[in-house]
Amino acid sequence: MKKRILTGDRPSGRLHLGHLVGSLANRVKLQDEYDQFVLIADVQALTDNYENPEKVAGSVRDLVLDYVGAGIDPQKSTIVLQSQIPAIAELTVFYLNMVSLNRVLRNPTVKAEIEQKGFGDSIPAGFAMYPVSQAADITAFEANLVPVGEDQLPMIEQTREIVRKFNNLYGGTLTEPEALLGNYPRLVGLDGKSKMSKSLGNSIYLSDSPEEVNKKVASMFTDPTRLKPTDPGHVEGNPVFIYHEAFNPNKEEVADLKARYKEGKVGDVEVKQKLAVAINNLLEPMRLRREALAGNPEKIEEILRDGIRKGREVSESVLKKVKKAMKIDYEFLS
Ligand code: ATP
Ligand code: MG
Repeated sequence: MKKRILTGDRPSGRLHLGHLVGSLANRVKLQDEYDQFVLIADVQALTDNYENPEKVAGSVRDLVLDYVGAGIDPQKSTIVLQSQIPAIAELTVFYLNMVSLNRVLRNPTVKAEIEQKGFGDSIPAGFAMYPVSQAADITAFEANLVPVGEDQLPMIEQTREIVRKFNNLYGGTLTEPEALLGNYPRLVGLDGKSKMSKSLGNSIYLSDSPEEVNKKVASMFTDPTRLKPTDPGHVEGNPVFIYHEAFNPNKEEVADLKARYKEGKVGDVEVKQKLAVAINNLLEPMRLRREALAGNPEKIEEILRDGIRKGREVSESVLKKVKKAMKIDYEFLS
């Protein structure tokens, strides 16, 4: 049997370049070698968007478009809509017994997100517990590997702990996953400060038009110590050069720009123009694939229906094993 991948995203906006280098590129690369499930995590998206369900439901098709645009092939990868997979919800309930409240609240990513979202002392319980439901996502598909960005490492660790506890208590049932980090596990945002994130408005989206990309790149922060193009500049930690490294395949051009930047022999305008060209070249084939599918809404629905069917099949068989291990596979019902 091929090894399995479980990965996915919350439908609460479109995918950006951070997703690409953090996890999406790995998914595209590994979809031949692995049996891959890509989860559209709408239930998880509702944990912090429950007052705005239209945003979540309305982003589902966009996410399919982003995936196919980026090169996820629905013939090779199964795109699964989380809310339609009841086994995940059931597993979450069982796993809640495998963790302590304190352990979940200590999760550094959850902690940071609680702060960022300004929940104060009204943290929705569903939000605080989302690492547990993520353990259900991962184990429902018996995933061996989970391609993620750095902020997700505590989630994978939480999943591994739940798996070990469950297996110790009830016998080897669940598969323990490993995280796989992308080339840039924490891509900085356009603002140069925080990580690129859809909720921070500092992103270049895979679906941005060439004009939007040009505008966003032109507005990027660079070296704050450099006042005029003849000042020697810093390339380390400079977001424009981080993006050049990540997205410009012309290594000679990048080396030349860096050298001239350090000597004060190139202006920000040229560095940014070349970056915008590189990003637009990268995105162009994605835009074309995206547009082709966008014009065929029935195909999008077919992809979703097929994924739900396959997702239910696999997760139900895992749920069966779990119930057996937990002695709730009552004989009088069979
Ligand atoms: P939100 O702002 O709603 O949290 P997000 O933009 O941070 O959205 P997520 O849906 O939280 O995106 O993340 C989906 C996946 O992409 C995760 O594996 C995450 O680690 C990865 N990821 C997100 N942003 C980045 C980034 N800037 N660099 C690398 N990986 C990223
Ligand atoms: Mg995030």
